Amino acid sequence: MLLKMMEVKCKHCRKDLFDNECILLFTSHHEVKKNPMDVGCGASDSEFCSYVSMDKLPKWIEHAINQESWTKGRLHCPNCNNRIGTFNFINELKCNCNKFITLPIKITNSKVDILFHSK
Ligand SMILES: [Zn+2]
Ligand SMILES: [Zn+2]
Repeated sequence: MLLKMMEVKCKHCRKDLFDNECILLFTSHHEVKKNPMDVGCGASDSEFCSYVSMDKLPKWIEHAINQESWTKGRLHCPNCNNRIGTFNFINELKCNCNKFITLPIKITNSKVDILFHSK
């Protein structure tokens, strides 16, 4: 499978949120996003989201989650403090078609720019 490099930037201040690590965003169906509009079954959802895998969390996300003792809360851009997503380790949330439990950390697509680069 050909994987593309993803870059996720804060739409407000343009900061690269994942410091060029090989970040993978997932759809609500646990598939790696292949393009910015790839949202699993959430096409009718007004708030399109992407999900972050737990393997390699950037420090600022780990910090935000630790502050809430791994319960739930909001994710803010580490640079401009704009809200860009949420996390929830308490409730299992399902995708729109109820077939999948979504990953606990999600990024709101409208708050970020997701760029794809071929390796
Ligand atoms: Zn920002
Ligand atoms: Zn679904």
